[in-house]
Amino acid sequence: MSRPGPKKLIFATQNPNKVHEIKLKLGEGITIVSLIDLNYTQDIEEHGETLEENALIKARKIYKLYGQNCFSEDTGLEVFALNNAPGVHTARYAGEEKSAEANMDLLLKNLEHQADRSAQFRAVIALIINGKEYLFEGISQGKIAERKSGTHGFGYDPIFIPEGYSQTFAELDKFEKAALSHRSRAFEKLVALIKKTIE
Ligand code: IMP
Repeated sequence: MSRPGPKKLIFATQNPNKVHEIKLKLGEGITIVSLIDLNYTQDIEEHGETLEENALIKARKIYKLYGQNCFSEDTGLEVFALNNAPGVHTARYAGEEKSAEANMDLLLKNLEHQADRSAQFRAVIALIINGKEYLFEGISQGKIAERKSGTHGFGYDPIFIPEGYSQTFAELDKFEKAALSHRSRAFEKLVALIKKTIE
């Protein structure tokens, strides 16, 4: 009896950290090709008003361009004392340059003297399989640290302390973060679905 072929998906991202994190969670028989592998370097505009809209915009664009099953992911950091800001504006919180340092500095400043530092990362994955669209959500709860620490990861990792830990994401090793991350949690739901769907 022949084994089923690999389940191949394009991951519509140019962020090598995201690709790496997702690949750590890949089971056997699923292959992921990123926009970096495809040499797709153009910016995909994210003009949606929600994470769901942004994830769908990216996935639809790549599905149309390559005609292959694909998924994209959009993440927001929701800080409760700031009415869930920066949320959908997380990447550009401190400006169009999308500077991780400037974003973290602004968030730390806006939380100065704030006792409630609870926050969550919320990731939304949009998957398109044979034209059918699916959305998956993954949440990682925690709090915003008083200052930056750690060198691993990317984005806001140096100031996010996941629930049950005393270190930031940037102080954890990549396997620990991959086990806890919002993105991985959304991706686990995707894997469960594609295992049933693609032959
Ligand atoms: P996007 O999903 O790539 O648009 O990311 C939105 C913003 O969230 C960017 O500023 C990212 O750096 C940040 N971000 C996304 N995922 C993570 C993460 O796992 N850790 C830290 N920051 C993240």
